[in-house]
Amino acid sequence: MGDVKGFLKVKRKKSEYRPVCERLKDCSEVAVLRPDEQSEEQASRCMDCGTPFCSWGCPIGNYIPEWNDFMFRKHWEKAYQLLEATNNLPEITGRLCPALCEYACVLSINDDAVTIRENELALIEHAFKAGWVRPKSPKKRTGKSVAIIGSGPAGLACVDQLNKVGHKIVVFERDDKIGGILRYGIPDFKLEKKIIDRRLDIWKKEGVEFRTGLNIGTDYSAKKLLKEFDAVCLAGGSRAPRDLNIEGRQLKGIYFAMDYLIQANRRTSGIEVSERDLIDAKDKRVVVIGGGDTGADCVGTAHRQGASCVVQIELLPKPSESRPLEQPWPKYPLILKTSTSHEEGGERLWSISTNKFIGENGQVKKLSCVRVEFEKDTRGKPVMKEVKASEFEIEADLVLLALGFLHPEKKGLLEELALELDSRGNVKTGADFMTSAKKVFAAGDMHRGQSLVVNAISEGRAAAHYIDKFLIGQTNLPII
Ligand SMILES: Cc1cc2nc3c(=O)[nH]c(=O)nc-3n(C[C@H](O)[C@H](O)[C@H](O)COP(=O)(O)OP(=O)(O)OC[C@H]3O[C@@H](n4cnc5c(N)ncnc54)[C@H](O)[C@@H]3O)c2cc1C
Ligand code: SF4
Repeated sequence: MGDVKGFLKVKRKKSEYRPVCERLKDCSEVAVLRPDEQSEEQASRCMDCGTPFCSWGCPIGNYIPEWNDFMFRKHWEKAYQLLEATNNLPEITGRLCPALCEYACVLSINDDAVTIRENELALIEHAFKAGWVRPKSPKKRTGKSVAIIGSGPAGLACVDQLNKVGHKIVVFERDDKIGGILRYGIPDFKLEKKIIDRRLDIWKKEGVEFRTGLNIGTDYSAKKLLKEFDAVCLAGGSRAPRDLNIEGRQLKGIYFAMDYLIQANRRTSGIEVSERDLIDAKDKRVVVIGGGDTGADCVGTAHRQGASCVVQIELLPKPSESRPLEQPWPKYPLILKTSTSHEEGGERLWSISTNKFIGENGQVKKLSCVRVEFEKDTRGKPVMKEVKASEFEIEADLVLLALGFLHPEKKGLLEELALELDSRGNVKTGADFMTSAKKVFAAGDMHRGQSLVVNAISEGRAAAHYIDKFLIGQTNLPII
């Protein structure tokens, strides 16, 4: 613990964001990287708790008190060495993670948590600038080969771990670029794509092979791949979207959020989209159905495209602004989250159900909605009830469905391999991450359902541990 009184002297100070009027004019990242001196000062707030609940809250068990202490003492390189021991993509979690660790931080019991996520970002960006993040090819190769299907954070974490111990790694990705939802899903204003490319360059120099534009199970047989590699890891994500099958769903102007976001990402990267396929919010009244992260990303994207107004509606009631009693520290609480996209404008409505879409000449024009409330039934299960005489309409030219994801897509890869699935339709594995097919492993959203980047990294690391053990009979790779 660098400064025993740090937490008494220094107040939590978050990073700054670019002014709304400026950032809405472009798609660049909204967060401003803070100076190292400020991060060192913020790191001094860490109390080096005997039981660091922050590490408990972090799915990859980051050595948070240890690197906070090194940062405070200006030993940035030592801090970085600890960070890279547990996290394959800190430059991504430092930007995107909801920071489960901060909700578990002991300081947050009666004060503001340490800015752990922002310290992580400052640390990895310092390391890149200093040239410490460089290719480190394995000293010798094992002669074993692993195919990774899918290049989101789960696949990439698995790649990095297995490449380090000397296996030959080939990544198969159906998109034209590597990154999964990080590349085509999450907007540039949260994560600029050069951040992914910077890391990929290092892995390519370390000998990882990336093959894009290949949909395994459709363009190339998965069974054939099994014959060509000693092990296969499925990291294809969970992309089957939840639909809203109500009257008017077939009207023009209603899209799944991911179709909209993927196209917006591609346009930001300079890829042109034909007029016929274009989904654009310019001068449109946009309604986003679904109050989660994906919905928030649609709100920010629609504002940047010049929407005339944006409304985000959610079925569930407005969450509380502070930690509810039934979700005590150190649990991750379900509280109201106001993202940078919400700060940029638009309206948010809760406890709203959509009954039908109303159109004119085949184009959506309005949503017919009703207010709802939830009551508990005799078994304590919440039951939704419409509030009497609360019907109303919302005008809309573009409706984006951000209602979550059901499970991985079955067509192609999963159908061909005929793997056992769990009750939610995700790929079932044993505790060793092996699926019902020998030498086929699964990790990330495809295995656990749509989740978070940090959970995908954790799964990718765990799968790598078991794959290495399967290939060699033992492993030095950590489980997380
Ligand atoms: C819009 C949106 C915003 C989000 N924002 C955040 C956030 O801010 N913070 C956060 O922590 N989490 C966020 N998440 C969740 C997070 O992005 C995911 O949990 C994470 O990306 C899952 O990683 P993954 O590697 O399992 O799968 P994915 O990232 O989905 O990657 C799977 C990859 O597999 C490829 N693939 C699938 N099948 C095949 C096949 N047969 N052959 C070849 N390739 C295949 C896909 O093309 C894809 O590239 C967000 C999710 C969405 C949808
Ligand atoms: S719980 Fe908070 S104060 Fe304690 S070690 Fe972790 S970051 Fe530091």
